[in-house]
Amino acid sequence: MYKTIVIGTGPAGLTAAIYLARANLNPLVIEGPEPGGQLTTTTEVENFPGFPEGIMGPELMDNMRMQAKRFGAEFRTGRVDSIDLRKQPFTLSVEGTGTLETETVIISTGASARLLGITNEKENIGRGVSTCATCDGFFFRGKKIIVVGGGDSAMEEAHFLTKFATEVRLVHRRDKLRASKIMQDRVRGNEKILWSLNRTPLEVIAGERGVTGLKVKNNENSQEEIIETDAIFVAIGHTPNTGFLKGQIDTDEYGYIIVKPGSSETNIPGVFACGDVQDHKYRQAITAAGSGCMAALDCEKFLNEHFTFTG
Ligand code: NAP
Repeated sequence: MYKTIVIGTGPAGLTAAIYLARANLNPLVIEGPEPGGQLTTTTEVENFPGFPEGIMGPELMDNMRMQAKRFGAEFRTGRVDSIDLRKQPFTLSVEGTGTLETETVIISTGASARLLGITNEKENIGRGVSTCATCDGFFFRGKKIIVVGGGDSAMEEAHFLTKFATEVRLVHRRDKLRASKIMQDRVRGNEKILWSLNRTPLEVIAGERGVTGLKVKNNENSQEEIIETDAIFVAIGHTPNTGFLKGQIDTDEYGYIIVKPGSSETNIPGVFACGDVQDHKYRQAITAAGSGCMAALDCEKFLNEHFTFTG
């Protein structure tokens, strides 16, 4: 029987683990299919306080993991394939390796990159379609790249990909960008970046060797066009990873877990949520880490009020 199980190892889950471990609550931390979360697919993080020169995303996450381990957090790798939050103690299983029991659960499973849902997109993931510039950009050295999206992620990925590509074309469905001014300015000042605004992606064009183009609709004249490219990086936002909960917890219409304002408490006593799985507004590493701290403190208080532990 665990006092607490943390599901997910982004900045939220690992911060929760650090606090729980330091409170002698011996958390079990489940590392899912994307250990370290989204920061492991980013390059330099310049806005996490305490690193005046910046720090690479994967290094930051490794540091947090080591810090949690140092205080006694236990880690297990695998996908949670079943969970029952309807009665105490809660039970869950990780890839069929037996049932684990716990008094409390902290859900920090984050959010995953969204796809466009167009023809030939899924089939060509790994053959020129990607959602992770830092993972796959290197493979397109000296090639032409398209980045789809008009938010900060698209700007960031486009800027990063100019390190490898001969040109990076930003394709966005409207003529206005959603991205913050500082990110837009960075991209607009980059000569390798070309623009195809007002274009809605329709189909990935690919041959035996992978992606060769992107068919789009020009929203100014409704004509279809094919833009030649060797790779398409989709950067259009994220979906919360709450499917495994199978409707057992209150979420909003997009699937983000609802927490009580100013806390990490969900509608189920003893179940807490932190990080991007409950935040579609701020979505920053530092806000995720902060909410992970809140979840650990809320969890500790809950355990103190409801359970007496020996040992
Ligand atoms: P986002 O802000 O939600 O932007 C998603 C973009 O994708 C929008 O431009 C949207 O178009 C477009 N889009 C969505 N669905 C589409 C579809 N089916 N077909 C074509 N285009 C589609 O997501 P994000 O860029 O991932 O950013 C998320 C949050 O993280 C933001 O708060 C952002 O500020 C933050 N962030 C910050 C940084 C940084 O500061 N370094 C870096 C990355 C992200 P519309 O505009 O037409 O809706």
